[in-house]
Amino acid sequence: MMTVEAAVLPHARATVAVQPVELGEPGAGEVLVRMEACGICHSDLYVAGLEKLPAVPLILGHEGIGRVAALGEGAAPWALGDRVGITFLGPTCGACEWCCSDRERFCSRQTNFGYSLNGALAEYAIVPAAGLAAIPADLPAAEAAPLCCAGWTAYGALREAALESGQKVALFGYGGLGHLALQMACHRGWRAAVVDLSEDKLAMARAAGAEIAIAAENAGRTLQKTYGGVDAAIVLTPSPAAIQQAFRALKRTGTLVLVGLSVNPYELPLADTILKGITVRGSYLGTRQELAEVFRLARSGAIRAHVHTHALAETPAILESLRRGEVLGRAVIAF
Ligand code: ZN
Ligand code: ZN
Repeated sequence: MMTVEAAVLPHARATVAVQPVELGEPGAGEVLVRMEACGICHSDLYVAGLEKLPAVPLILGHEGIGRVAALGEGAAPWALGDRVGITFLGPTCGACEWCCSDRERFCSRQTNFGYSLNGALAEYAIVPAAGLAAIPADLPAAEAAPLCCAGWTAYGALREAALESGQKVALFGYGGLGHLALQMACHRGWRAAVVDLSEDKLAMARAAGAEIAIAAENAGRTLQKTYGGVDAAIVLTPSPAAIQQAFRALKRTGTLVLVGLSVNPYELPLADTILKGITVRGSYLGTRQELAEVFRLARSGAIRAHVHTHALAETPAILESLRRGEVLGRAVIAF
């Protein structure tokens, strides 16, 4: 037994507390990971705010980078000292239609770190070996952490947008996901607009290559006027108002990609969806190969997460800043 500090959600809709947690030995098929860093994601707030959770008390965190510190029986393919990532996607059934077509993220029996399994916001984590991702050893842990969710999700959303070089994309929300999505879009030669409520974030987006960076109000009309509409709009925030502005920003036959999670319904104009041939897609994470591609992009220097590091004890305060939309780039806990 050892005692470690962890960011724990004691029960559904509770306040997250940093407290000691007892860890045993890793069991069969499990690995003990010494965490190096873990990003704090908007989905941590989403999970903390849900009325029902599959498991409580729950250790949050699904942007974890660490090293294998001990192995249970049959924890292949990992070895002591391996660099591993704890993402939102844990082990899946391995046998369903989606697991057999590289779309495990849609498996109905998937497990999720920081949701149905304990996550990575802890000094050490015991996790199923099958759910871990291989992480390049040479990336700084704090910069690698946000790639496990924000980077992977941004990459998947760009795939759903399916644009060619020179086409126009609008990114609604410039937080952890948005700032990585912008870098990826620019790297592909897409022309990018960024929409956010925060002037600080818009200034950051302009500096990072956004052709247009505007406030959310009337963003749809502004993008129609300045760009003649965009080929795709990716909504990275869970705000219904942002979804409507994104819809208005689209060109005829454009694609709306929804990424920001919320339990709320949203409304779209039916006639315009039909008569303008609009495609609406949900996007959630990506394939495991795409996660590896995100890390290749980071190693090549094509993308780099903008991070601020904090101590684990600051987790509850960071969650509050995130809720208020005040975090620039990604806040990452460094262990
Ligand atoms: Zn996340
Ligand atoms: Zn499955």
